[in-house]
Amino acid sequence: MGALVTKVQKYLDVIKKRNKDLNIFLHVNENILDEAKALEGKKTKGALWGTVVAVKSNINVQGMITNCASKVLENYVAPYDATVIQKLKQADALLIGMVTMDEFAAGGSGENSAFGPTKNPLLPELVPGGSSSGSAAAVAAGMCDVALGSDTGGSIRTPASHCGIVGMKPSYGAVSRYGLIDLSMSLDQIGPLGNTVQEVQKVFEVIQGVDAADPTTIAYPALSKKGGSLKVGVVTIAGVAPVIQKLIDARVAALVTRHGWTVKKISIDSLDLAVATYYPLVYSEFYSATRRFDGARYGKPFVEYAGKEALRRMYGGQEITQAEFAGKYYQKALGVKQVIAASFNDAFKNVDCIVLPTCPGLPWKLGEGTKMPLEAVYAYDACTIPANLAGCCAISLPAGESKGVPVGLQLMCAQGEDMKLLEIAQKCAL
Ligand code: GLN
Repeated sequence: MGALVTKVQKYLDVIKKRNKDLNIFLHVNENILDEAKALEGKKTKGALWGTVVAVKSNINVQGMITNCASKVLENYVAPYDATVIQKLKQADALLIGMVTMDEFAAGGSGENSAFGPTKNPLLPELVPGGSSSGSAAAVAAGMCDVALGSDTGGSIRTPASHCGIVGMKPSYGAVSRYGLIDLSMSLDQIGPLGNTVQEVQKVFEVIQGVDAADPTTIAYPALSKKGGSLKVGVVTIAGVAPVIQKLIDARVAALVTRHGWTVKKISIDSLDLAVATYYPLVYSEFYSATRRFDGARYGKPFVEYAGKEALRRMYGGQEITQAEFAGKYYQKALGVKQVIAASFNDAFKNVDCIVLPTCPGLPWKLGEGTKMPLEAVYAYDACTIPANLAGCCAISLPAGESKGVPVGLQLMCAQGEDMKLLEIAQKCAL
């Protein structure tokens, strides 16, 4: 048995041993050992040769169940590969299977999956964060090398932070969304999660790029233009727990000393409105996205089979859309989104990157999210939503622990500066 087959077998063994308890995989690729054997004999090796990838269940992988962790799409087998999947396969990556998530990516804890909540592999009594709960948990549990997630308002960065790993949300337009089942098409991006910045970067480099099948993709520079000493902007967000802010401040101070960077506090216009701006956009766009789930072409009728949060967003989006002739909500939200984006653009004229916590608090106990007031659950995205509204790239990095619970540091760079973001992130490793 070659080294690659041995590695794959090791991952399959961990899945066999721990998946029942942790609830991460919804579908395991039963051909993966054969595929690994075939790769071992390959003479010219692709950029991701033998990299074992877990895929969030809202990204179409031909022949695999792509159900968005929803009863609406329960047995839906994808008939084609998303562009990112085609690229991974061309680069000789191995797909180990489909992992769970908050239903239709609507959630931040991993508790909204129709197939049960996922446990945090590091601290099983806590949530892993969501909505890419399975993606982060699969990496943290040692079930794959890396994973793909999607991030609309924090869904890659939040679980990466709670599971003590690295998770990157690329700039809007950097990675094709063709084959991603959307939550909110103007905000969603696919991105990688992994144990190190290097691994995340390798995957990003393969999946990024303009795609004729996704007209929202943009050609961004392939190289970082960064040189000289770094200027770091620090943004403070209302509602961040003091323990988290202290830890982040200490990390920033240590990095500044280590690298000789300069830091300054910056403020972004209307940042306090980010959460209130995000939800009307997501509700409306999700309502539109659900129109195809009518029980005829795809899956089962949405209203009968969707879970509580997905239904709330669908009905809420319907209300907003119907009231929209007066330009009441969606139009207004778009206006604030533009103000926030413009303010970030201005800020990035003076700083190379912005640092802030990934999450305002520590992961809560499994099951607690369903009892919390909705406002509190939504407010938990306050640190991650701004990057989506502004189209910026952002990454969450392990920044230490508070009483044994991982805390994430978030770096943001201007839209299109993904390579610069990764270069800075390399320098921030603990
Ligand atoms: N938690 C946020 C929400 O519920 C983010 C979701 C996401 O990024 N997909 O919408």
